[in-house]
Amino acid sequence: MDRRGPKPVDMSLLDFWEFEWYKALHVLRDGTALPGSRALTAPPLHITPAIVRSWVRRLREMGEEEWLRINERACEEISGKKDLDAHTSDPFVLRDWARWEKEREIADLETYLNPRQIPAQAERRELWRNFWQARTLPALKKVCEQWASLPDVRGWGLTCFPNHILANAREFLRMKRNSRFPKSDSPVMDESRLEYLARGMAGILADVSPMTGIERLRNMKHTQGGPLWTKEPGGLEYCNCWRCRMASSRRVYKWGAEGWWNGMVLFMELACVKGSKKTKVEISDETARNL
Ligand SMILES: [Zn+2]
Repeated sequence: MDRRGPKPVDMSLLDFWEFEWYKALHVLRDGTALPGSRALTAPPLHITPAIVRSWVRRLREMGEEEWLRINERACEEISGKKDLDAHTSDPFVLRDWARWEKEREIADLETYLNPRQIPAQAERRELWRNFWQARTLPALKKVCEQWASLPDVRGWGLTCFPNHILANAREFLRMKRNSRFPKSDSPVMDESRLEYLARGMAGILADVSPMTGIERLRNMKHTQGGPLWTKEPGGLEYCNCWRCRMASSRRVYKWGAEGWWNGMVLFMELACVKGSKKTKVEISDETARNL
């Protein structure tokens, strides 16, 4: 029987694809999946480049499970309470998040050690610009081919994303023509543009229109009664969308440059790296209130 009325939207599927596209588009634009380059600010003086290099080596040899264990202990040590998020999130999502967060940390530390990497980032920006400005199929095809041939994109198995764009090229070009597509050059607008495209592509992969994906994700309620509001048998309640999960998991690194470095010191101390023990993480009352 033909059911009338709007098509039901699977919000968990939409949320899943939004996160996948959010990461894939950040890799295209910035070379890393999660935003934030706090390490570009110099560390406290006692953290020498040699120490930073030893951290990079340690992070490189660390698996996702170990990263998560240490991160959980660091979060608990800083906040003085159990890190509930580590136990409530889907293990697959947590491992995936850990993988990207670890890559982000390595990239941030390496950018601090080798500021010369910035020209490569400029090329990346140009590719991103050509991507969101592409108006015709040949222009889009060219940029997607360049995107798919980037060594890190191939290495991380992300070539399916430019392929999805080409397979849905007409819808992709149409959503960019919509008057709501952010066209200004400011960094804030660039982030909105990335989110718009991630949400639109999530819509396509969740089998609704790009505009439905964009609207439903933008207006999603994250409090009680929201579509992804979850109640645990033990009484714990939370929004299970990727944004809310990330917001609670990343609190250890949310205090700006100094906090970022102090968080790394604590993390590396817990990871037993020699020479990382000199700083004790001090938490101001204001920071503690924000945890
Ligand atoms: Zn949420």
